Amino acid sequence: MANDVCVFAEVKEGAIKKVVFEMLCAGKELADKLGGELTAVLIGSNVEDLADQLAWYGASKVFLAENELLEEYSSDAYTKVLADIVREQQPSILLIGSTILGKDLAPGVASRLQTGLASDCINIAMGDDGKLTATRPMYAGKIIADLAFSDDKPWTASVRPNVLPVSPPDESKKAEVVKVDAAISSEDIRTSVVEKIVTGGEKVDLTEAEIIVSGGRGMKGPENFKMLEELAEVLGATVGASRAAVDAGWIAQSDQVGQTGKVVNPNLYIACGISGAIQHLAGMSTSKCIVAINKDSEAPIFQKADYGVVDDLFKVVPIFTEELKKIKE
Ligand SMILES: Cc1cc2nc3c(=O)[nH]c(=O)nc-3n(C[C@H](O)[C@H](O)[C@H](O)COP(=O)(O)OP(=O)(O)OC[C@H]3O[C@@H](n4cnc5c(N)ncnc54)[C@H](O)[C@@H]3O)c2cc1C
Repeated sequence: MANDVCVFAEVKEGAIKKVVFEMLCAGKELADKLGGELTAVLIGSNVEDLADQLAWYGASKVFLAENELLEEYSSDAYTKVLADIVREQQPSILLIGSTILGKDLAPGVASRLQTGLASDCINIAMGDDGKLTATRPMYAGKIIADLAFSDDKPWTASVRPNVLPVSPPDESKKAEVVKVDAAISSEDIRTSVVEKIVTGGEKVDLTEAEIIVSGGRGMKGPENFKMLEELAEVLGATVGASRAAVDAGWIAQSDQVGQTGKVVNPNLYIACGISGAIQHLAGMSTSKCIVAINKDSEAPIFQKADYGVVDDLFKVVPIFTEELKKIKE
């Protein structure tokens, strides 16, 4: 209701996305300050079993909208169902993950609710004026802006994955599940999924990875990415790339980091043979620790890096991998 904070619980392949737990932990603090409840909206088909997990991270109520037509994400259906629930419940704040799905859903929902949207936020907090303040990078990360909201509610923000801390779950908690009639028909859905092409296999999605090892044009060819995969395996990391490496056909587009690739925020980002063009920095400059390996000491990446190695990556990376293996042993 009026002072509640509502989190959209995105589900992918039967599991709740990690960013949802991050938003629930931040949302609980906001709800406590507002004197309201933390709620979640779970949409899909056969997803009820996931509701308790939302309670483990603080949701006291879960609005569950199930329908066979919601098994696959579609902008039409999800936008309508989520907006209908929010309109009915009238929370003060609505949070949606800034994932691939969320980047499609959040503007549609905000538009239906005729409210503003602060997108791709890296922080959300209650301001001294009792309103939500959202912090987001702008102009390819050149500035970090604090956004104020108007009086129109819900204050709606999409939140970048991996930026907000998660508290340990309290698995003794159970959610109060409120079943909602997802009034949706096939006529409401103007698009259909014709084919699914899975890329990336089993590896952790770049946007959720804790550690990323990225390669650029300095890798010289696709065969050398094996070296990064070996390093990634020791570190439990995911391999990413610059656009130059993607455009050269050395690695899939889904692995591209940057303005026209994925925006990532890992604890550790290791850039190998990447110059640090502004469009690449736009995708990774909020990483918590950046390590750059580049033979050019003037490369712009060093201005953003916390640690830098000025040397040939073909010399450094194998030594780094071997040393890490020894430490792990
Ligand atoms: C509209 C637009 C959108 C874009 N979007 C993106 C994006 O999303 N992501 C992105 O990455 N780029 C993007 N770009 C491209 C971007 O401008 C750069 O061209 C690109 O990031 C360069 O990639 P790179 O750093 O791998 O290559 P380069 O700039 O060529 O850098 C290669 C680096 O490797 C180093 N090197 C070479 N050999 C070695 C060695 N043996 N050991 C160590 N270091 C070595 C060199 O010193 C150099 O610094 C975009 C550009 C435009 C115009």
